[in-house]
Amino acid sequence: MKKLLKLMLQLVPKDPHQLLRMRRTLMATGSGLVLTTVVILAMSQGMVDLGLPYFIVLYALIWLGNLCFPLMISYDINLLFKDPSLTISQLVWHVFTNTISIYLVPDLQNVFLMHYLLVVLFGAFRMQRKGFFVVCGFILACYVSVMVFHQLDGHGMDVKQQLLSALVFIFMLVGVSIIGTEISSLRWALKQRNAEMNKIMTHAKEQAITDDLTGLYNRRHLMDILRRQQALASRGEYVFSLCFVDLDHFKQVNDQYGHKAGDEVLQTFADIARNCVREVDFVARLGGEEFVLVLARTPLEGAMLVAERLRHSMEQARLDILDPGHKVTASIGVTQYRPKEPIEDTMHRADVAVYSAKDRGRNQVVADQDLDKLLI
Ligand code: GH3
Ligand code: MG
Ligand code: MG
Repeated sequence: MKKLLKLMLQLVPKDPHQLLRMRRTLMATGSGLVLTTVVILAMSQGMVDLGLPYFIVLYALIWLGNLCFPLMISYDINLLFKDPSLTISQLVWHVFTNTISIYLVPDLQNVFLMHYLLVVLFGAFRMQRKGFFVVCGFILACYVSVMVFHQLDGHGMDVKQQLLSALVFIFMLVGVSIIGTEISSLRWALKQRNAEMNKIMTHAKEQAITDDLTGLYNRRHLMDILRRQQALASRGEYVFSLCFVDLDHFKQVNDQYGHKAGDEVLQTFADIARNCVREVDFVARLGGEEFVLVLARTPLEGAMLVAERLRHSMEQARLDILDPGHKVTASIGVTQYRPKEPIEDTMHRADVAVYSAKDRGRNQVVADQDLDKLLI
């Protein structure tokens, strides 16, 4: 019993999309079970004109087909098809088995006609207008064939009664298809709306953490990053460093070439800074012409190398919007986070180091350690 339960659990898909397909498929299989039960009951009442062995073989084959669909989903075979929900093939199969039921139990044809309608409604989960045409066309073909067979066999109703019944059924079929198409269109519209909302949300989230001009992280997100780094560092061996960057004589650039040119220089610096760090590092614009690099798993010595590379790259950068030979340089203060200290202290040390770089003539990298030495 336990083994059987374990096997059944193994057949349940883990992927949520597959799980949803399995649920719907099992609903269809369940309706197939109701159908089979009705036919068995009819058989027990002598309403079926078929020998028991034939009946058993026929229904064994039908159930082999019924179980094919959930098993295909369990083993992900359905994913090989264009429509992994296998909607049309499942509907066609259930229409086919329902037609067999009508053929076997003509007295209960009205019950089975209702089942056709239920099958069409299943299509609302996935099908669009074309699918409804295919399934309804198939249902009508099956229905007409079975009626003709009944008339030929002498099991059929009175022809007038049969025609009236067919007319009502066609009317119901068209009605259910229209409702199904409406439900299906609503589902598609909702799905599309959800996708759009997700896109907007992702965009809004991105905007909330980035600086419009440079695309770097903004000040607010920088503080979040620093808090996360601080939490990592408080847990043990983890180290990280900060590089505080201030562009030199940037006001001059604005005054001489205009604010737009200044903006372009800021964008160029952002590109250079992004290229100087690894995937795991962060670059943020603090505001104006001030930036912060957060270098993950990096002690001071490593951070000094990165800062120097950045300073050099900026010094060498081609700034086409400025006069030839006009370089925009950067002063950079570097510090390593000291365990347990408030992040504001780290930022302050880096800031002091930048001021020192300015004092020493700009376009240079200063580590906070150098300041300690000076103070001593
Ligand atoms: P120092 O070398 O001492 O850092 O001199 P500086 O001119 O770079 O520093 P200061 O703080 O005097 O000037 C910074 C300038 O940055 C002032 C402001 O016009 C400019 N600025 C701030 N934000 C922006 C911006 O978004 N775009 C542009 N183009 N300029 C900006
Ligand atoms: Mg400044
Ligand atoms: Mg400046």
